[in-house]
Amino acid sequence: MGLEGLRMEIHGTVQGVGFRPWVYTTALEEGVSGRVWNNGEGVFIEAFGPGERLRAFVERLRSSAPPPAFVQDLELRAMAYEAVERFEIVSSVLSAARRVSIPPDLATCGDCLREVLAPEDRRFRYPFANCTRCGPRFTIVRDLPYDRPLTTMASFRMCAACQEEYDSPEDRRFHAQPNACPGCGPTLELVDASGAPVHCQDPLEAVALALREGKIVAIKGLGGFHLACDAASAEAVGELRCRKRRPAKPFATMVESLEHAGRIAVLSREECRLLTSPRAPIVLVRRRTGSRLAKNLAPGNPLVGIFLPYTPLHHLLLRLVRRPLVMTSGNLSRRPICRANGEALTELQGIADLFLLHDRKIETRCDDSVLRVMAGRPVVFRRARGFVPSPIELPFRLERPILACGAQMKNAFCVGVGELAYLGPHVGDLDDMATLESYEEAVGHLEHLLGVKPDLIAHDLHPGYTSTRVARERPGRKIAIQHHHAHVASCMAEHGLQGPVIGVAFDGTGHGTDGTAWGGEFLWADYGSFTRVATFRPIPLPGGDVAIRQPWRIAAALLYEAFGAQLSWVKYSLFRQVDPAQLKFVGRMLERRFQTPLVRGVGRLFDGVAALCLARPLASFEGELALAWNFVADVSEEASYPLAPDREMDPWVLDYRPMIRAVVEDLDGGESAEKISAKFHNALIAAIVGVIRSMVARKGARPIVLTGGCFQNELLVERVSQALGSAHEVFFPEQIPPGDGGLALGQLAVAHAVIQESGN
Ligand code: ZN
Ligand code: ZN
Ligand code: FE
Repeated sequence: MGLEGLRMEIHGTVQGVGFRPWVYTTALEEGVSGRVWNNGEGVFIEAFGPGERLRAFVERLRSSAPPPAFVQDLELRAMAYEAVERFEIVSSVLSAARRVSIPPDLATCGDCLREVLAPEDRRFRYPFANCTRCGPRFTIVRDLPYDRPLTTMASFRMCAACQEEYDSPEDRRFHAQPNACPGCGPTLELVDASGAPVHCQDPLEAVALALREGKIVAIKGLGGFHLACDAASAEAVGELRCRKRRPAKPFATMVESLEHAGRIAVLSREECRLLTSPRAPIVLVRRRTGSRLAKNLAPGNPLVGIFLPYTPLHHLLLRLVRRPLVMTSGNLSRRPICRANGEALTELQGIADLFLLHDRKIETRCDDSVLRVMAGRPVVFRRARGFVPSPIELPFRLERPILACGAQMKNAFCVGVGELAYLGPHVGDLDDMATLESYEEAVGHLEHLLGVKPDLIAHDLHPGYTSTRVARERPGRKIAIQHHHAHVASCMAEHGLQGPVIGVAFDGTGHGTDGTAWGGEFLWADYGSFTRVATFRPIPLPGGDVAIRQPWRIAAALLYEAFGAQLSWVKYSLFRQVDPAQLKFVGRMLERRFQTPLVRGVGRLFDGVAALCLARPLASFEGELALAWNFVADVSEEASYPLAPDREMDPWVLDYRPMIRAVVEDLDGGESAEKISAKFHNALIAAIVGVIRSMVARKGARPIVLTGGCFQNELLVERVSQALGSAHEVFFPEQIPPGDGGLALGQLAVAHAVIQESGN
């Protein structure tokens, strides 16, 4: 039998996931000798043995890597046979080129949890236990290759017992970089609001007691701090709302186990699968009536964001406290999530009564991810921990790396290299200096990990976006991308569509090529270009963006557009809640078209109609009323309102005025908000389906893409998909957010096409 040698180079998610130990045991099983090592590009193997053994070995490497390891490609080259006896894991080699993808942080596995709960185990009650299948990854990596000295675990020296696990190929912790135990690893520290140590036997027990007493505790986690309080206590939740100045936005809740989750929410099989996955995201699920959750946790919202413990610290705490906990991002409103101990003590002073700290540094901020199941598919609303930095495979190959800067709100950026797009973690709204700095740092870190410094920069067309300014300050070629084109391209890229497609992009606002605000767009699009087939009649926004937090202004604008000045507003209870002087002033603004920028966002239409019919003048966060309007709809109602496109115009214009008149007629006739909302939704659904059918009739059937923040509305997504039926392929974003958090992927795809078409 001929003895041969093979050299292999493997790319993919192959570091920090127990890949080399698996290669080692597979080599032993196949009777192959040689060596395996990491470098910045991936995993290298030199293997020697009989030809057929080598081929069996390669086949297993290609096809049966244990998740979360993922072999993207395996390059093979023959080499001279070497007579080595053993198979070994050898030291990592540094290299300049990088294409390895490090894994995201992974929720505590079953084996580690069992140890932490077992009194006889040496890791009993240890909050930082982990192994090659679970634990921190992306948030502790400083540099590549992914080895302990290049993580924030570098400062902890393993004890003899941990080192032995780390060195034993048969052990679950073989080369588990964050490996630690109570004797050698990170430790907890409890301090009070002034930063002074709290003397206690067990910090976790002290925290559990404080939480049961209604206190608010800042808790350091994987990707940042949480603010925690008793989710069953309206008083505690109210106090947190007051201190955090967050009057209404829903809080996510961590529960002890899936069983506990099932007691407070109705869970589908898919939702259970998501909750218990190693990504451990927050999943928006339907709350059970009469659950023990406080009413003010998510006021007026039938959904509740639930997640399960994803570190041993969380598991231990939830078992001690024995009630659901609010676990919301530990930040001041609009600022990035706190990550360093000192930062938390300063920023969260006045909010938290106690701080549960630890001494493992967080290198990269990573908020919790948020998902919702819509039309039977999981859709990522916020993409961060558990997902970042897993790449998305592109349906094309980039010749040069591209940085896409994302939007202004809910920002996430994207770096593309070769066939892979790496979406950065959710950064937030870029209108705060600290958030901007966090954004720039995150971009720099991901570029560093990928070993690229793109000189092609894609950004939004909006000249005022902070992300646009950042793009312009960078050296290299800048490409401005229209907002809704990017929304559509993003969904195309995720699903590997080549185009053209029929793209429906509905959101709050986005800069149009004519300099006005778009947001209800029907596009005939491929990556390189688009034609705007239909849009909505614009709404004059009295006072501009102020109206987003004061939707009564939008309601006034809609009434003014539909009826002119003769309609008396004060008969509606909405306007009786508004200062009469302000109301009069807004009336004059509308009459004289003074400071009333025109916007076409469907999101604004939701805001305005919701304000009027729900008699709610204000919104404490963008889209609050739109969300409430969605939830109130009586899904059994089949009637609709008139909303048809004017096909004489180019683009066609959907005129909302007949619909507003019909809404007002219903309102005056005492129709319920539930019915009006349903009819409003039905009108939009019919209009979307109608325009799509007309587009198909004109230019032929194409895949249909539904995207933009408005398509976080389950009713719209499900009903439009249903109405179009099996005759049409309907796609919506799943792995990336439908809203502006998913925009960067589309910017990248369009920029690539623009460069291809311009021939350089
Ligand atoms: Zn584990
Ligand atoms: Zn140890
Ligand atoms: Fe948008």
